[in-house]
Amino acid sequence: MRMSQLVVPTLREDPSEAEIVSHKLLLRAGFIRKVAAGVYTYLPLGFRVLNKVINVVREEMDRSGAQEVFMPVLLPAELWQETGRWDIYGKELFRIQDRHERDFCLGPTHEEVITDLVRTSIRTYRNLPVNLYQIQTKFRDEIRPRFGLMRGREFMMKDAYSFHTSKKDLDREYKNMYETYCSIFERLGLEYRVVEADSGLIGGGYSQEFMVLAETGEEEIFYCDKCNYAASRESAGVAEYKVGSSQEPGASGNIKEVNTPGAKTIEEVTAFLKAKPEQMIKTLIYETESGPVAALVRGDHELNEAKLKKMLGVEDLKLASDKVIEKVTGAPVGFAGPVKLRGLKIVADNVIPLIEQGITGANKKDYHLTNVAYGRDYKAEALGDLRFALRSDTCPKCKEGKLQVVRGIEVGHIFKLGTKYSEKMKCVFLDEKNQEKPMIMGCYGIGVGRTAQAAIEQSHDKDGIIWPKPIAPFSAAVVPANNAIKEQMETAEQIYSGLLKAGIETLIDDRDARIGVKLKDIDLIGVPVKVIIGKALKDGQIELKLRTTGEVKLVPVAQAVEEVTKLCQ
Ligand code: ATP
Ligand code: MG
Repeated sequence: MRMSQLVVPTLREDPSEAEIVSHKLLLRAGFIRKVAAGVYTYLPLGFRVLNKVINVVREEMDRSGAQEVFMPVLLPAELWQETGRWDIYGKELFRIQDRHERDFCLGPTHEEVITDLVRTSIRTYRNLPVNLYQIQTKFRDEIRPRFGLMRGREFMMKDAYSFHTSKKDLDREYKNMYETYCSIFERLGLEYRVVEADSGLIGGGYSQEFMVLAETGEEEIFYCDKCNYAASRESAGVAEYKVGSSQEPGASGNIKEVNTPGAKTIEEVTAFLKAKPEQMIKTLIYETESGPVAALVRGDHELNEAKLKKMLGVEDLKLASDKVIEKVTGAPVGFAGPVKLRGLKIVADNVIPLIEQGITGANKKDYHLTNVAYGRDYKAEALGDLRFALRSDTCPKCKEGKLQVVRGIEVGHIFKLGTKYSEKMKCVFLDEKNQEKPMIMGCYGIGVGRTAQAAIEQSHDKDGIIWPKPIAPFSAAVVPANNAIKEQMETAEQIYSGLLKAGIETLIDDRDARIGVKLKDIDLIGVPVKVIIGKALKDGQIELKLRTTGEVKLVPVAQAVEEVTKLCQ
């Protein structure tokens, strides 16, 4: 490709809309252009990179035995109503109507469509297992689209879905996908970590996320400093507490009602009572499909709704409205507490029974209770891990190490779905005994655009992008220093066509510009190998320069093509 013809509108200044370096570089180097919030055009260079990521993903998925299909983006509401997700998915689902006022959505994920396909095309165990995948545009109306391709509203995803006759066979395929993902991210040259994850809106059983390590990552990764435990913030567990001798539950003092005018938040109440947040029994009222629930966590802890959902076995919950809170507690918001709270289920975090001289709302406007003791004054129906883990918490796996935190970008997610979709949608097969059973499913996603951008986040310098070789838009760039010098241009053209013949994806910077300008642009774009034809040509030599290390090598013209080819492999 000739640089003089390439549509690559590079920018000298950092675009103001971009917060993180990879986003700035994609815009500055002319890879993408914003069309609307979270919606982008891929320019020629951007599209080349995207396709390279896609090729690696496709090769490895094909090698794993999965079969590629292509499902529509436009999906009828009926399928989504079968699983109940038409209602649960909420505002993230782009909903539209056709001219007959029939409801449709733009696919954010494809469990319903693929399950519909499989239930109508596979009948017996003889045709199982199968793993079907596609590489296609997804739509999600994210609350905060940001960071360019990292969190778009329209983005490219590889999604795969597998169907099995047994849990054991799902486990085998899950492992197969785990290994396929490792090969993909290794081939892409990314430094990543696999963590235990929450399965969110897609749901089902066990899941793991593939995280590319990067300071600017949106996710926190909790890992143990002693064993190999690693989990996302959403799912990081907290070891159960050891009860020490000084922590006799509910040892001291009688419960007292105190007037706390206007003090509602943890900060206000602890300031007013000169107490510590660790003494507070935070009482959160939730509405769930099976009625209101009170969930208790310590004042200095944050409740994790994913854990609460799991404990309650519900798919959906939300913080109760002011009206519901007033109805169940008899007091305005800010004064809820578990003592004498009737008519709803109470669940508590594991640490709650250990709070001595607890403080909590009195279910009465402007009053709190002090010296509250678990067991004596109140009780929970269920105890469990309900809070977000914190740095230095004890590891839930080895129970010895302390949790540490690093940041990462979630690029892939693998799930064991079980029968969540197949039961609701009657996706069944006949087993050897001719008995009908629901298929057991897994699903596996990779954010293709996000992965490409994550590579930049991990690999760049002050001059621009440093693409890992397998996804660089071009492998080499031929740069004549001065177009006015005939021999330089001729040699450049000759090496350029030699490289093209050798199958090396090559750019030639034939623009009538100063060498400094050319090299700056080529570095910004991140081409791995530069072939500079300049002063050394008088001695029959050209310069090869590596983008990664800046290392320079002088090579005779006649060997240029061979040397570059070696460097590009
Ligand atoms: P997140 O927690 O970041 O919103 P998710 O859990 O919703 O991700 P999945 O439904 O598991 O994501 O989707 C599979 C993959 O698709 C993710 O691992 C991620 O790489 C990518 N992805 C998800 N949402 C987006 C988005 N808005 N923009 C770009 N890529 C995305
Ligand atoms: Mg999401």
